[in-house]
Amino acid sequence: MTDSLLIENGTVLQTGKTPAVLRNHSVLIENGRVTKIAPQREIGKFTGRRLDASGKLVLPGFINAHTHCYSTFARGLTKTRPANTFMDVLKNLWWRLDSALTLEDCYYSALLALLDSIRHGTTAIIDHHASPKAVSGSLLCIEKAVKETGLRACLCYELSDRDGRQIVREGLEENASFIRHCGQVNDNRIKALFGLHAAFTLSDRTLESASELGNDLRTGFHIHVAEAASDQAFSQRHHGMRVVARLNKAGILGPQTIAAHCVHVNRKEMDILAETQTAAVHNPQSNLNNAVGIADVVLMSQRKVLVGLGTDAMTANLLEELRSAMWAQHLLANNPSVGFAPVVAALFSNNPKIAERIFHLPMGELREGCAGDVVLMDYDPPTPLHRENLFGHLVFGVSQAAVDTTIVGGKVLMQNRRLTLDIDEERVNARARELSEKLWKRL
Ligand SMILES: [Zn+2]
Repeated sequence: MTDSLLIENGTVLQTGKTPAVLRNHSVLIENGRVTKIAPQREIGKFTGRRLDASGKLVLPGFINAHTHCYSTFARGLTKTRPANTFMDVLKNLWWRLDSALTLEDCYYSALLALLDSIRHGTTAIIDHHASPKAVSGSLLCIEKAVKETGLRACLCYELSDRDGRQIVREGLEENASFIRHCGQVNDNRIKALFGLHAAFTLSDRTLESASELGNDLRTGFHIHVAEAASDQAFSQRHHGMRVVARLNKAGILGPQTIAAHCVHVNRKEMDILAETQTAAVHNPQSNLNNAVGIADVVLMSQRKVLVGLGTDAMTANLLEELRSAMWAQHLLANNPSVGFAPVVAALFSNNPKIAERIFHLPMGELREGCAGDVVLMDYDPPTPLHRENLFGHLVFGVSQAAVDTTIVGGKVLMQNRRLTLDIDEERVNARARELSEKLWKRL
C-alpha cells in the first residue's frame, strides 16, 4: 500500500538550481519521496492524507551539516571557568562537560536537540558526538532518540588522544561498530561517518588507525579543521606541516569527509579541499562566539571548495545561522555587498549535496524524486515575492517567521506548531533537568 501525503495549495519555494515560487501548488509525497508538484487541479483523484498549506510557504526541510547534540546540557551552565582562548573554551567548558556525560545523558541531550530541530524545520542533522567516559553504546543511544523523533541523522564518535589509549580503542570501536550497524540496517534516516576530534588532539598513530579502519569501511570522516589559529600552530610545531596537508597525507580527506570550520586554512589548503572534494562546513555563530575568526567562505567558494553550513549546536535554526554567516562575511570583507551568493549556496545548494553523499538520497530540495522532507512556514510576504528575490525574502523575512509544520519522509512530526510525536515533552524536560543538574554537580 502506498503511504501518501498531499500538501495542498501552498506557495512552494524551489531553492535548488532553478529557483522558483510556485503559487497555489500542491506537493504529493508517496512512500517517503516527492512524486509530484503541480497546481491543485492537476493532482487528480487523491484518497490519502491531506494537509492544507494555504497561506503558507512550503519549503524543503533544512539540513544542519555540523552540530553536537551532547552540548544541550551546557544550556544555562554557570560553573565555567574564565576562558581567554579557544583552548580555554575547550578545557574549561566542553572537555569538562563531555567527560561527565553518561549514556542516559547522551540519549536525553540528543532527544532535546532533535525536538528543537523539528521546531525549527531542520529535518536532517550531521552530528559529532563526544562522551569519553561513556563511549561504548553512545551512538546507539543517540540513534534511539533519532528513531523516536523521525528525523534524519548522521552520527559519529569524536576520536581523540586526550583521554589516553583505552579511550582511543573504545572510540575506534564505537565508530566502526556503528558504521557497520548502519550498513546492516540500511535506513536512509540513519547514517554514520568516522568521527575525529581535531588534528591537534590526534597523534599520528591514532590518525593512522582511524584512517585504516575508516577507509576499510569505505566511509568518510567528520573532523574539526583549523577552527582556531592554534590548531595550525600546533600542527606546524609538532608535525612540520599544516593541518589540511597532514589530514590529506593520512588519507582522511575525500568526497564523504566533512571538515568543520576551516577558519584558518590558506589558499593551498583550500585547493587540497577542492581537489579531494572534501566539504568544508562553516559555523559562523560558534566562530564568532569563540572569537576564533571568520572563515573566508567567498574565497573558498571561488577556489571550488564545497562549503556547507552548520550550527555547531549554537542553534537548531538554520535561517538564523544563514543570517549570521551573511553578516560575518560582510565584516570580514569590510563590504556589505560581499558573500550573499556563496552563503545562500552553502545552505540551499551545498548542504543538500553534502547530505546526498551521506544519506544516498536527493534531499534539501523540492522536486520530484527528492526526499519528502518538507517545512510549512507562516509567511505572508508584505512585498512582492518572486524567483529573483526569493533568497532575499528567506534571509530577511522568512527567517523571522514561525515554522508551522515539519515533515520527514512524508511523516508529519509537527503540525500547527505542535509536535505530533508520541513523546511526552513535559516528562522529557523534567528528566533532562534532573540529569543536567546531576551532571553539573559532577563538573
Ligand atoms: Zn563542532
